[in-house]
Amino acid sequence: MTATFVKSITDLSQAPPGKKPHIALVGRSNVGKSSLVNSLAGQKSLARVSATPGHTKTINFYEFVGRYFLVDLPGYGFTRASKSKQTGFTGLLNDYLSNASRLALALLVIDSRLGPTDADRQMQAALATAHVPTTIILNKVDKITRAQLTTLVKKLSEEYPDTKFISHSTLSNKDRGELLDVIEQAVRVA
Ligand code: GDP
Repeated sequence: MTATFVKSITDLSQAPPGKKPHIALVGRSNVGKSSLVNSLAGQKSLARVSATPGHTKTINFYEFVGRYFLVDLPGYGFTRASKSKQTGFTGLLNDYLSNASRLALALLVIDSRLGPTDADRQMQAALATAHVPTTIILNKVDKITRAQLTTLVKKLSEEYPDTKFISHSTLSNKDRGELLDVIEQAVRVA
């Protein structure tokens, strides 16, 4: 997979120009978005994997196979952040979502150990309101049992009947192929 880091931006005016579709990664801080970028790219250190959560305040653009941008959006809901930083999504995340005409698909990454948090549910609702097609990634499934995963998927399917779920673990690259297929399909119809 040819994937390159393009830029990190702090203001939407700095976003790369052009008409290539965007595939957005959204999720709480530390859920494993940077690791997922590396896993999808099949590269070890394309995205910096932070040991200290809550630091990514930028939007990071990666260009995949010259056809689309994988857009890593700022993580939300970091529990150890100060109170003022815990509530709501950052301005940059909101700005992106309200101006995202090239957004073909959002990948909402959820920690499979926690299930959806209140912030994840708010994010899902915001994406639905903006009519952004969304697939939910249940990440870090190496940390739960198969039975726990089955229970979680059943619960989520009831809560979000029209949403596709894909489990993933950076350790095993579980279901990476299915995830790439979903991205490919979204890029094709964009
Ligand atoms: P981000 O803040 O969402 O970009 O999260 P990172 O990719 O920086 O990952 C946060 C932490 O979770 C790091 O310590 C990663 O090594 C770890 N991590 C990420 N994905 C997985 C996974 O699938 N399984 C396990 N066990 N740990 C993971």
